[in-house]
Amino acid sequence: MNYKIYYFLLITFSVVNAVKDYNGYKVYRVVPRTEDDVKLLEEFRRTSVGEFWDDNLVVNYRVNMMVPGDMQGLFLNSTRQTMIEVEEVIPDLQKAIEDQLKPATGFRSSETFHGYSWDRYHNLETINTWMNTLVQNYPGIVRPVVMGRSVENREIRGIIINYKPEKTNKLMGILEGTLHAREWIAPATVTWIVKEFLTSTDPQVRAMAENIEWHVFPVVNPDGYHYSFTTHRMWRKNRSPESFGTCEGADDDMSHGVDLNRNFDFVWMSVGASNNPCSNTFAGPRAFSEPESRAISQYVLNLKEQGEIIYYLAYHSYTQLIVIPYSHVTGSDVLLANNYADMYEIGIRSADAIAKRYGTVYRVGVSSEILYPISGGSFDWVKKVADVPITFLIELRDLGEYGFLLPPEQIIPNNLETMDGLIEMDRVTKLLGYYSAGAISKVISLSVLILCSMVIVLFN
Ligand SMILES: [Zn+2]
Repeated sequence: MNYKIYYFLLITFSVVNAVKDYNGYKVYRVVPRTEDDVKLLEEFRRTSVGEFWDDNLVVNYRVNMMVPGDMQGLFLNSTRQTMIEVEEVIPDLQKAIEDQLKPATGFRSSETFHGYSWDRYHNLETINTWMNTLVQNYPGIVRPVVMGRSVENREIRGIIINYKPEKTNKLMGILEGTLHAREWIAPATVTWIVKEFLTSTDPQVRAMAENIEWHVFPVVNPDGYHYSFTTHRMWRKNRSPESFGTCEGADDDMSHGVDLNRNFDFVWMSVGASNNPCSNTFAGPRAFSEPESRAISQYVLNLKEQGEIIYYLAYHSYTQLIVIPYSHVTGSDVLLANNYADMYEIGIRSADAIAKRYGTVYRVGVSSEILYPISGGSFDWVKKVADVPITFLIELRDLGEYGFLLPPEQIIPNNLETMDGLIEMDRVTKLLGYYSAGAISKVISLSVLILCSMVIVLFN
C-alpha cells in the first residue's frame, strides 16, 4: 500500500475512533444571577472555556459546566468579578466517567434477571440480547418488536408485554427510553420496570402489567447510546451527518447529530431549540428530518389504530421532574392540554409516592415553569397529535451532583422509587376513569353538558 494512503487511513481511523478524553476537567455548577452573567457564560461557551451539560443559559437557572484544566484559572478569575455562583461538583471528570463503569457492590447488587443486572450500566448489545432472552423465556407474553432504523441503520428494538393477547378493546402504554444518548439511567430504569412487570407479586404491579399491553423501548437513540459508550461519554444527540460542518471554538464532531427531542413536528423550532448544528439542542434541518423521530411517530400512530393508548412515558435524566405537556406554554395556556388538571393531580401524587421511600424530591409541572420552555419534543407531539391522555416526560435522578454520571450504586434506589411513583401514577389514573375507553371524550362531553346547563340557568 502506498504509504501516503496508509497514513491517511491511519489518521482517519484514529480521528474517527479517538475516545474523548476528559483528563484534567472539572465540573462546576454555575448559577447566573444577572443578564450580564448570562452573557459571560455564553461567551465562555463560544470561546470553549467550558462545555455546558445544558444549553439553556438563563438568569437563576443552575447549570453544570465542564472546564478543561488549562481554562480553570481564567474561568475562576472571570467569575469572581461577577454575581455568578460557582461550586465545584466533580473535581475529576475523567475519574467520575471511569468510576461510573465500575459495578456497584452492596445493596441488592447481586440481583440478576435472565442474565441482566442493575449493579452497572449496560451497553446497547447487552440490552438487546437481554430482550431476546425474555422473548424466549416468556412465550405468549413477551414478543420482540422493531420500531424502525437509526441513521446508522441500527434497529430500534423493543418488546411488547401482553398477558391477555385474546382481549379486544385493549389499553396500551408506551415506555420510551434514551432519546438522549448520555442519560444512561433511563434504560437502567426502563429495563427494571420490565423486570417488575414480569416478576412482581404486588397486586398493583400485577394489575398494571396485565391490564395494559406495554410497548417498551429502552433505547430509541441506539447510535447515540452506542457512541456514548465507545467514543464520547457526553454525547446527547443522534449521529446524523446531514448538517456536518465546522464548529467555531468547538470540536467539529459536535455538528454530527440532531437533538431528537427537538425534532418532532409540533411547534418545531419555536422556542428552546437551536438552528445551529454545533449546538446540543440542534432541532435538525426540518421537523422529522431524523429516522428515529419519524419511527417513533409512525409507531405511535400505527398503534393508535389498534386500541387506546393511555400512557406515553418518556424517561430522561437528570433534575428529578415529572413534566406535563406542553413544553412551550406557560400561565393559563397550560390548559391547552385538555386534561392538564388530571395530569397535574397524577403527577403530584406520583411525586409524593417517589418521596416516601428515600425522600427524593421530584417537581411537577410544564417545562416552562419547572425547567425552561422547549419545542419539538416527542412527548408533546404524542400528546397533541396522538391525543394520549397520560403523557409525561420524567427526568430521573439526580439534581446535578453527578448528573449524567450517576454512580451505579444509585441505579437500584432510583429504580425502586421510580416504580413507587409509577404504581401511584397508575392507581390515580385508574381512579380518574382513564381505564374506560374514551374517558377523555367523556370528560369533555361532561364539561360541555355542564356549560350548557349553566347557560340555560343563566338565561332563564
Ligand atoms: Zn434528555
